[in-house]
Amino acid sequence: METKRNIAILGSTGSIGRQTLDIIAEYTHLFHASLLTAHSSAELLIEQALRFKPQRVVIANEQRYDMVKEALAGTGIEVLAGHEAIAQAVVDHDIDTVVTAMVGYSGLAPTIAAIKAGKKIALANKETLVVAGELITGLLASSSSVVYPVDSEHGAFYQCLVGEDRNNVSKLILTASGGPFRTTPLNRLATVKAADALRHPNWDMGAKITIDSATMMNKGFEMIEAKWLFGVSHDHIEIVVHPQSIVHSMVEFVDGSVKAQLGLPDMHLPIRYALGLPARLATDNYHMSVADYATLTFERPDFDKFPLLGIAYEAAARGGNAACIVNAANEVAVAAFLRDDIGFLDIARVVENTLARVPFIDSPCYDDYVNTNEEARRVAETFIN
Ligand code: NDP
Ligand code: MG
Repeated sequence: METKRNIAILGSTGSIGRQTLDIIAEYTHLFHASLLTAHSSAELLIEQALRFKPQRVVIANEQRYDMVKEALAGTGIEVLAGHEAIAQAVVDHDIDTVVTAMVGYSGLAPTIAAIKAGKKIALANKETLVVAGELITGLLASSSSVVYPVDSEHGAFYQCLVGEDRNNVSKLILTASGGPFRTTPLNRLATVKAADALRHPNWDMGAKITIDSATMMNKGFEMIEAKWLFGVSHDHIEIVVHPQSIVHSMVEFVDGSVKAQLGLPDMHLPIRYALGLPARLATDNYHMSVADYATLTFERPDFDKFPLLGIAYEAAARGGNAACIVNAANEVAVAAFLRDDIGFLDIARVVENTLARVPFIDSPCYDDYVNTNEEARRVAETFIN
C-alpha cells in the first residue's frame, strides 16, 4: 500500500491554507495534514484540527494558546504557541512537504528551517523569495530540498518548462489581471478606499495580496519570485496585462515559440499541481470549456499609474537587500492603507521613500535581512502621516 505523504500547512486558516486542505480532503488516500499553523484564528484552527487530525498545531499568537489547548485536550493533538514554534515544528522528520501559505515576511524563518531540513516546499509565500531570494537559492543549492511553486503564474512557468532546456528560454511572459483599478483613471486613484481595492475581479484572496494586486506590487513581487525560481534575469521577464486570467503565464523560447498554460482562475489548480508533482492528480472539477472564453486580450501595463512595478524592476536590478526594503515598506504601507491611515497612492510613495532612505547592502547575510526588515519598517512608519 502506498504511504501517505505528510503535509505541513503554514497558515492553514488563510485563503491558500484552506484551499490546500480542500485538496487534502479530495485525496485522503495520498495526503495527511500533519501540521497546521495559524496566527490568531483559533476557532478555525480548532475546527480544522478536529477534522483533519494533525499530529501538531501551532498558534503563533500566544494569547490564543489556552483556548486551542483546551479545545483539543484529549485528542492527542499537540498544541504549540509562538512564532518560533512554527520554525521548530516544520523540521519534524515525518513531514514530507511544507506548504508556505503564511503572509509576508513571517514566512522567511520557517521556510529557511524547512529547506535546511530537506523538506519539499510548496511555495505560496512569495515574499520569502522577494526578501531573500539569493540566500534561499544558495540554501537550496546545498540541500536536498526542492521548491514547487504554488503561485499560479509560476506554476504556469513550471509547466511550460517541463522537458525544456533552460538555455533555450528567451523570455518569461508574466500575466497580470490588472486588478480592480485597471481601467480607473489615475486621478481617481487618490480617493479609492480599502473596500474598493479589496474587490478583486478574478481572484478571491487574503487582504494583503489583494491590495498588492490593486497596486500591482504583487506582479512586481512575482517578477522577482520568477527571477529566483527559474534563474531568469529581470530584463528577460515581461509583464503583460491579461484581464481574463485564463492564460496563467507564458514562456518564449529562442526559436520564437511561445508556450502558455491555461486554466480557470482558481487556486485549487496550481495547489493540486504542486502537491501532486511529479504526478498529475485527476479531478472531475475545474475543467474549462475554451469556447466559453472566446476573447482573450493582452495589453502592456501602465507603469505611470502603477509605479510599484517600476520600483520592483529597480530593486531586482540593484539586488542585495533592495527588494527586502521594498517588501518591508510595502507591508507597513498596505497595513496603513487597510486602516485608512494613508491613501492608495501613498503606498508607492512610502515604498519609494523608504527604498531611498535605508542603506543598501550588496551581499546580505541572514542577519542583514533581519536588520534591513526592521530598519525599513521603522523608516516606512515615519512616512505614514
Ligand atoms: P491570508 O491572509 O488569507 O492567510 C494568511 C495565513 O497566514 C493565515 O493562516 C494567517 O493566520 C497566517 N499568518 C498571517 N500572519 C502571520 C504571522 N505573522 N505569523 C504566522 N502566521 C501568520 O493570505 P493568503 O492565503 O491570501 O496568502 C498567503 C500567501 O500566499 C501570501 O504570501 C500570498 O502572497 C500568497 N499567494 C496567495 C494567493 C491567493 O490566492 N490567496 C495566490 C498566490 C500567492 P490567521 O488566519 O490566524 O490570521
Ligand atoms: Mg500570482
